[in-house]
Amino acid sequence: MINFSRLLKVRETALDVKKHHNKRADEVPKHLIRYANVKAPMVAWNITRKCNFSCDICHLDSALEAESDELTTQEALEFIDQMASIKVPMISVYGGEPLTRDDFFILAGHAHNKGLRVILSSNAVLITEDTAREIAESGISYVGIDMDGFSQIGGVMDVVAGLEKALPAMKYLRDAGVGCGVRITIGDFNLSEMPSIVKTIEKAGLKRFAVCQHFGDRAWKTVKEERREIIDFLIDYAMKNPEMEVVTEQLYDDGVYLMQRVAEREPELAAEMEKLLARQGGCPAGDRIVNVDYRGNVHLCPYWKSRTIGNIREQKLSDICFDKGNEVLIKLSDKTQYLKGRCGRCMYKHLCRGCGARADEMCGDPFAADPACYLTEEEITVA
Ligand code: SF4
Ligand code: SF4
Repeated sequence: MINFSRLLKVRETALDVKKHHNKRADEVPKHLIRYANVKAPMVAWNITRKCNFSCDICHLDSALEAESDELTTQEALEFIDQMASIKVPMISVYGGEPLTRDDFFILAGHAHNKGLRVILSSNAVLITEDTAREIAESGISYVGIDMDGFSQIGGVMDVVAGLEKALPAMKYLRDAGVGCGVRITIGDFNLSEMPSIVKTIEKAGLKRFAVCQHFGDRAWKTVKEERREIIDFLIDYAMKNPEMEVVTEQLYDDGVYLMQRVAEREPELAAEMEKLLARQGGCPAGDRIVNVDYRGNVHLCPYWKSRTIGNIREQKLSDICFDKGNEVLIKLSDKTQYLKGRCGRCMYKHLCRGCGARADEMCGDPFAADPACYLTEEEITVA
C-alpha cells in the first residue's frame, strides 16, 4: 500500500520513523507501523469465504456459502491467542464478508481484549445502526468499505451508484465513532469516470479512499498503460486535495513513480520521500505480512494463494512465520539481493521489491521481474 497523501505532506519524517525502528508493535504509534520493521508480521485474515454478493471481479475466492471446514469459533479464538502472543501489529479481517460469520463479534471482542488492533474490510451491506454500534464496542477503529459489491448493477460496475447505496452504512459508522474509508476498483469499464467517482467520495464526507486496479486476464501492456493514467490522475488529485488521504494498492512502484514526479519540482521533498519509502521497504509479502485463509492455511500475502507455507491447525503461527528452514521466507526477508531481470537491475528495487505473487504466477519464480511494472527502462535506471 502506498499512501500518496502522507508522503506528499511529509506527515512523518524519516527521523520520526527511525526513532521507532525495530521496536515492538505495541511501542510504535499506529501510523508508523508500516515503517517500523516490527518482528511479527501483520496478518490479513480471510475469516470466511461466505459473501452476500457474487461479484464478477472478486479477487477473494468468495462464495455464497461458507466452506464446510472453515475454522471453528474455538480454533479462531486460539488463533487470536497465538497472534497476541507474538504481538502482531495489526489484523486486517476480511472474507468473503466477515460480518456473515455469526461469531464475528465474539472474535473481534476477544482480539481487542488481547490488545490486538483489528481493522475490518466489509461490503457494508450488513452494517446497520446496531451493527455499527457493535463494531465500535468490539474495539474496531476503522472499516474499509469495499465498493465492488454495491457497485455491481445489472452486469456493469457503477461505483457512483454503489457509493450512494453505502451512504447509510458510512453514516452509522461515523455516528458510532468508527473511522471509515472506501476501496474502489478502477478498470477500463470506469476509468473515464474517475473524476465523478472522487467527487462522490468527497460529497459522502469521506477523508480516505484506496484504489485498486482490475487486472483480470488483460494483457500486461494494457494494464500498465491504464495504471499510469490512473496514477497520474491520483497524484494530481492528491496534490490539489491535501485534506484527502489517497492510497493505492497492488504495486509498490507507485511510490517510485510518485517520487520521480515530485522530484521534477521539489527535489528536497522527493529526497525525504525516498527515505520514507526505503523504511517502508516495498512489497511486504512473507516478511511484514502474511495471509491466513478460512481453513487456516498461511500464505505469503492475500494475493499469493499458490504458495502455502503452513497451516495454523497443525503448527503455531510463530513457527510458520519464523521458520529458518523455509528458503523462500528467508530470501523474501532480504529480497533485493535475489531479484532478477529488470527488477534485479532497477535502482529503486529497495523501495519497491517488485511483486513476488505476480512473478511466481507468470514465471514460477518469486524473484523474477514484476510483469506489471509500468516504469520505463530509463525511469528504473537513471537517477
Ligand atoms: S523494475 Fe521492479 S523493483 Fe523496479 S520499480 Fe519496477 S517493479 Fe519495482
Ligand atoms: S507479493 Fe505482490 S500482491 Fe503480495 S504484497 Fe507483494 S506486491 Fe502486494
